[in-house]
Amino acid sequence: MTTSTILHLALVLVGGAATAVHAASDYPVQPVPFTDVRLTGGVLHARQATNSAVTMPFALGQCESSQRLRNFDLAAETLRRRAAGETDFQNKPPTQYPFDDSDVFKAIEGAAFCLSVQPDAAVAAQLEDMIRRIAAAQEPDGYLYTWRTMHPDSPAHDWIHRERWLKAPQLSHELYNLGHLYEAGVAHFQATGSLSLLDVCLKSAELLHRDFGDGELRIAPGHQVIEMGLAKLYRQTGDERWIELARFFLDCRGNGGTYSQDHQPVVDQVEAVGHAVRANYLYSGMADVAALTGDQRYLAAISRIWENVVSKKLHVTGGCGARGAGEAYGDNYELPHRCYNETCAAVAFLFWNHRMFLMTGDAQYMDVFERTLYNGALSGVSLSGDRFFYPNPLEYDGQSAGNHGHAGRAPWFGCACCPPNILRTIASLGGYVAAVQGDKLFVNLYAEGEVTATVGDTKVRLQQITRYPWDGTVDLRVNSENPSRFTLCLRIPGWVEGRPLPSDLYSYDDPTPARWSLQVNGEPFSVKPAHGYAAITREWKPGDVVTLDLPMPVRRVAGHPKVAATRGQVALERGPVVYAFEGVDNEGTVFDTVLPADATLRAEHQPDLLGGVTVLRVANAQKAQRTDSGEVATEVASLTAIPYAVWANRGLSPMTVWVARTPDRARLAPRPTVASRAKVSVSFHRGGMDPARLNDQQVPENAPDGSVPNFDFWPRKGTAEWVAYEFTESTRVNGVTVWWFDDTGTGECRLPVSWRVLYRTAADEWQPVTGASEYLIRKRDPVRVTFDPVTTRGLRLEIQLPPDFSAGLYEWEVE
Ligand SMILES: [Zn+2]
Repeated sequence: MTTSTILHLALVLVGGAATAVHAASDYPVQPVPFTDVRLTGGVLHARQATNSAVTMPFALGQCESSQRLRNFDLAAETLRRRAAGETDFQNKPPTQYPFDDSDVFKAIEGAAFCLSVQPDAAVAAQLEDMIRRIAAAQEPDGYLYTWRTMHPDSPAHDWIHRERWLKAPQLSHELYNLGHLYEAGVAHFQATGSLSLLDVCLKSAELLHRDFGDGELRIAPGHQVIEMGLAKLYRQTGDERWIELARFFLDCRGNGGTYSQDHQPVVDQVEAVGHAVRANYLYSGMADVAALTGDQRYLAAISRIWENVVSKKLHVTGGCGARGAGEAYGDNYELPHRCYNETCAAVAFLFWNHRMFLMTGDAQYMDVFERTLYNGALSGVSLSGDRFFYPNPLEYDGQSAGNHGHAGRAPWFGCACCPPNILRTIASLGGYVAAVQGDKLFVNLYAEGEVTATVGDTKVRLQQITRYPWDGTVDLRVNSENPSRFTLCLRIPGWVEGRPLPSDLYSYDDPTPARWSLQVNGEPFSVKPAHGYAAITREWKPGDVVTLDLPMPVRRVAGHPKVAATRGQVALERGPVVYAFEGVDNEGTVFDTVLPADATLRAEHQPDLLGGVTVLRVANAQKAQRTDSGEVATEVASLTAIPYAVWANRGLSPMTVWVARTPDRARLAPRPTVASRAKVSVSFHRGGMDPARLNDQQVPENAPDGSVPNFDFWPRKGTAEWVAYEFTESTRVNGVTVWWFDDTGTGECRLPVSWRVLYRTAADEWQPVTGASEYLIRKRDPVRVTFDPVTTRGLRLEIQLPPDFSAGLYEWEVE
């Protein structure tokens, strides 16, 4: 053990004592740690078992094979060779982004959580090897950021400034990486008792204190998470400098834009805006700082922002961050079906809701948590555990590569934030099951398993026997060491009471509360819930059994009238589970589905389907189709809906959560056109940007909610670019209509400087069309240009991007 390790060990031990002293200024409600919760059956247990058996080793392997670990080796090599006086060499990062370091940290954190539940010497050794490589890349003064260290003379990427930290408010992600490092360091120490990574963290935090501690250099971290990381470091060590730094990074905000929530001081913010992962990490960090410092201003702000999300910006699946442009929260009620809803945003939303509960003891936050968990978060990973969604839309056409360039879930991404995020969340799921405040034991998640908690000063074992979420009956066996008096608080979910969310954003067609019931040792127990909990206070004796029965009728859900996408449409829920129609169960099509009021709905458990799920059988539904005369006809159909979270586990197939109530609201495809049948090519597109959006026949007029997917050339700026259609046969054309894309306020696309139409000649050359009308350029509204008719196999649009900006289109039609 080195001297420094011994010093840190002393610090940690002192810190342990100090943490106890500081406990009074932490969350008033304390979670039962996930290490004291054992899930033994049901959905959450199955997901957790796959997570540790498949996802964890898979993610660690990806850190190596995607070359993210190689970045650390190259930085370490640079440090060694520079120290030896060599300067005539240049290592280059083999990966795509300066934030790639963070994926390694998150994977280590997830693996450490797995180790906490189930020790594994081989995995522990693998982590130590990874940590040794990370530590070797840390500069002598504590700085850790592989892209700069291996590139000391010139920035390795546009996002990196010549000097440390100065581009952190934009995109360097220097502080973001460190936030994930600190979270990983604490998790690794708690799992293994090893200080190897925590040493790296503390050395880095000391540098932050030297660089930022005097308050002179005011840097608002462009991508938040350092605030939560520092809070964990503070809890672990008791060193108040870390929580003061967390508060400092919060208070630096208010001088930038909405993209990174830098538009106002955080305590003045009222609406969820900008990049959704950054936002939800920020709000979680504000909760931590409020809890640990007692400063209620942060709590007041995030309470307002939470109201805003839950009443205006949350999808029925509990997903958030609707806009693909800027990976951002949309406007109020901007909740399109083809939304973004990044897996990381769902994960961060879980963190935030849990913290709100810990601060208030109010079940409404865990109601929202449960909705997000069972739907918009678990959808992020396949049942096999090794395929992932980055966006989690509420409808899918069955073919487009909307998952960052992949159709369906992908094994990994160039920007791989989501897979290790879902890994660490599922690994620590047990930590959300129960919580303690004084003599109250809260039960928030119902799942087969066992919780061990200290309530008051009694050690309590609480065993749950249940088939939840498929069945709402939960037997809770209370085993305390001795007979003892405490209060068991059981969450009565909002959906039982007839409220999908604690807001008017969604409503049930039939909002009649279900008749839930409680029994204690077989005797009915009547209680009115307070703050969402049914509280049972009594002298508990070993072997006492509480039976909670939460009926789960199938519910039809309506969206708020201001949500354009859900007008005339209906979604289905049962218990906490939101359902989706997938083509594979419904003769290949779903957008033609009509669910009239007299359709009947029946739940049916299918133990062999999709890991064991309860499906919904729909009788007397309809399928709509457009007749030759253009009218809509229907035929009666029997349909099946599956839980949304498990869609896309049986190959590619169209999917939708929302379906029409009446035939006129069915989303029938327009008839094919010359443009929609054409093959698209473009001069450039980034990963995840699908050129097929140009001719998907979705135009802004039909989606006032902004849900139309666009094509754009970002991150190219100022260049001349083109898009082209190749027709299936020579076609006579005499005009085009385009819809220009401009995301001022959230992104870097503006209207182009100029554009023109070219056609492919018989000699296979591109010639400008003649006799063209004016090439107008305006936002969103269609621009039509006519020209002298030509018969050709292809058309091309040449587009000049504005200096310093990119450009794009929603759609391009051909006459
Ligand atoms: Zn992500």
